[in-house]
Amino acid sequence: MSGASAGGDLPVFSKRLDELMASMLAGEAPNVGRFCGYCYTPLGKHADACAHCARTTAQYAPVAKIPAEFFALYKRMRHRESVIVNSFAFAGLGLGLLLFIVIVAIAVYRFNASLWWMAGATAVLIVGGRVFAGILGGWIGDSIGYDVARRKLAVEWQAYEHEREARLRPPAAPERSEAGAAPAGTSQTGRTA
Ligand SMILES: [Zn+2]
Repeated sequence: MSGASAGGDLPVFSKRLDELMASMLAGEAPNVGRFCGYCYTPLGKHADACAHCARTTAQYAPVAKIPAEFFALYKRMRHRESVIVNSFAFAGLGLGLLLFIVIVAIAVYRFNASLWWMAGATAVLIVGGRVFAGILGGWIGDSIGYDVARRKLAVEWQAYEHEREARLRPPAAPERSEAGAAPAGTSQTGRTA
């Protein structure tokens, strides 16, 4: 297949699924529906192929809920992301604090503790701290966090997929069920038992 996403060992993880899982985690949406058996993107009621990964429901039977392990994967990704963003934001606050100290020191040793310099230092601390936190956290941290978290997710996804594949299709016993016998639409979704 030449259609394999170039340059991306990034996992199949559709925008739609991303939003849905976020609202499921927030308790705004229940974990029920009809999801692609491969990438868990929500499927239409009668769709027989995934709009995101293009796997057909014959290849991967749709599932009625997103598995807990996959959720864990997602949560870990989000957590990593937020740790990185927060670290950068704190670094920004720290930078504001550092500037504050420097300006206060200048004020004290050079300008006889001038009130104007002190006021300036305070403004730098309050406004600068926020601005630096915003820039470092919301901009640099955000993009680095996104990259790092996705890259790690790609690794975890591979392991997950590998493990799931082994569970779904044991290589030792190549199943020879009559393909095409099962009519589309009557997929067995609750096969986890
Ligand atoms: Zn899919």
